[in-house]
Amino acid sequence: FFKRFFFREPVISNRISFGACCIDDIFFKLVGADTSFHYGHSCLVPIIKCLVPISYIFLEIYFDQSFLVEILKKNFGKAESSLNFLSTIQFISCFKKIENELIFYFKKIKIPQNKPLSPGETLGCTSPSLWNSKNIVYIGDGRFHLESCMIESPNSRFFQYNPFSHLLFVTEFSIKEFLEERKFILLKSIINQKNFCFITGALGRQGDANIFKKIKEIFKIKKFKFFSIFSTEISIDKLDILGFKKIDIFIQIACPRLSYDWGKIFNFPLLTSFEVSVLFGFTVLNNTRYSMDYFSNSGGFWTTYIKPKKKFFF
Ligand code: SF4
Repeated sequence: FFKRFFFREPVISNRISFGACCIDDIFFKLVGADTSFHYGHSCLVPIIKCLVPISYIFLEIYFDQSFLVEILKKNFGKAESSLNFLSTIQFISCFKKIENELIFYFKKIKIPQNKPLSPGETLGCTSPSLWNSKNIVYIGDGRFHLESCMIESPNSRFFQYNPFSHLLFVTEFSIKEFLEERKFILLKSIINQKNFCFITGALGRQGDANIFKKIKEIFKIKKFKFFSIFSTEISIDKLDILGFKKIDIFIQIACPRLSYDWGKIFNFPLLTSFEVSVLFGFTVLNNTRYSMDYFSNSGGFWTTYIKPKKKFFF
């Protein structure tokens, strides 16, 4: 197609693209591409930030929405005050139809939004906050994105509708266990505050320069030294080799879920930017929830799009 219509040789990147943040514009710049196409995810990284113009090609997965509408009518009485819908980007085009069909049946239908994500969209690290909501229906298979919503709004009631199996079920997440695990790792880090290593993710745009700058400033204020590397991968072996006798704590600026989902299996504390701000007293740890606002326009100062306030830099 490219050769025929554009008389150009296309380059296809075989580098892994895990999420919306893995935009490989740096690679395309290096291979001399004039433009690039990113297939299958949302346009999370602003086009103007990319080194090569990016065109996002969205992927929509169609499923039988009328079946879901009927299931919801059967399982939730009219008296249920509201239904909230969340999903991954591939399913969000169904929300309008579902809303139109259910608006006269239930009192309130909500499609919450955490900008710059689309209405109803959730990422593994960023979700709309639905504190104390009674009914949140997540559309999609798997638990990765769903857990992000449940960590952000742990006192809400969640349902998952799997469009492939057509099943609707109640789903839970033990926030108590999650918080205990992360607090234990933070405690270990407080005791061992000696040698730190920053790992900036080199996979697409995972390793954000703005976050790096802010954490570096915390270290300057606290007069701590650190060692810094770039890496496309954060694995047990890599941390073991790097950490052997030299590093006590790793701080990753890549994907927060690497720490939250795999934290237990690493032999060293692997902290996120949020946890660093807790560790050094710049943020108070909430006893009931963890922030899932990594790419939010209204996140904490440890997040990607938030510029530090002047007074933060003394
Ligand atoms: S940081 Fe992780 S969870 Fe967030 S978009 Fe990237 S891959 Fe997904």
